[in-house]
Amino acid sequence: MIIDGKKIAQDLRERLKKEINQLSASSIKPGLAVILIGDDPASHIYVKNKEKYAKEIGINSKVLRFDTSIQEKNLIKEIHQLNNDKTFHGILVQLPLPSHINPKKIISEIIPAKDVDGFHPINVGNLSSGNESLVPCTPYGCYLLLKEIIPNFSGMHAVIIGRSNINGKPMAQLLLKEDCTVTITHSKTKNLKEICLTADILIAAAGKAKMVKADWVQKDCVVIDVGINRIEENGNKKIVGDVDFENIKEKVKAITPVPGGVGPMTISCLLNNTLTAYKKIVSN
Ligand code: NDP
Repeated sequence: MIIDGKKIAQDLRERLKKEINQLSASSIKPGLAVILIGDDPASHIYVKNKEKYAKEIGINSKVLRFDTSIQEKNLIKEIHQLNNDKTFHGILVQLPLPSHINPKKIISEIIPAKDVDGFHPINVGNLSSGNESLVPCTPYGCYLLLKEIIPNFSGMHAVIIGRSNINGKPMAQLLLKEDCTVTITHSKTKNLKEICLTADILIAAAGKAKMVKADWVQKDCVVIDVGINRIEENGNKKIVGDVDFENIKEKVKAITPVPGGVGPMTISCLLNNTLTAYKKIVSN
């Protein structure tokens, strides 16, 4: 089975749109502020899509664009203004940042209640303590995709390839919460293939094109491919995941394609987080 991330992401946006439409006409709309620095083409595409989908579902979104020369202290001032701005309930700083700006410092300046990327240490701590928190968008998207296929994860063995703060680690927390037995692997892991062969759920988030081969997975495995790798094949440029999709898709229980799997879920989960942040802020 191929998991249709595009459709599931669209369904989520429809549900969010309905909920936003039902807000009373007099109340402020949910608002999302995105800070974009420099002219990285991929970042521009991501931000454009975030703006487009936010608008489509009734979220008031604004992109604040800055030149790469912006000083860290001035960026922090902008964030403080957004923290105090009642029209914005979500603040996102598009990564990567120029090398003279420390992303950890910048993220920790966003108030946790508006940290819709879920990267602030307070949100990270709350997620790992099992408390209510804003959850990083990509792992949350993976979790929702898995939920479509597996009603109950209890006792399943989930193997995660990659231990980054934005993917592997929060993914592990979400699956632990669902009573999975979780193995996090990384570039120093020995016998990766053998570990993957024991997975009921395999999350590949290494950023290595087609590294997971058909003989790494067992037939009942559900495979979620987070990787986005730009490669050239037979003279054509294309985007592929971390999984050798063509050779695995017939073998496993379910798998996400790249593109059209996890990617679309990430933006929908960002919008979901914005609405969650809005509801919490407005109710306080
Ligand atoms: P990072 O580079 O931050 O982390 C990669 C992780 O994979 C590291 O933990 C690294 O190990 C591990 N790794 C690298 N090579 C291997 C290997 N050969 N075997 C086992 N583990 C390995 O990447 P990100 O988490 O930021 O992104 C991962 C991928 O997901 C990328 O392709 C990225 O483009 C994609 N992505 C997709 C998103 C989406 O919306 N679909 C959103 C965000 C990212 P170590 O820690 O030891 O270095």
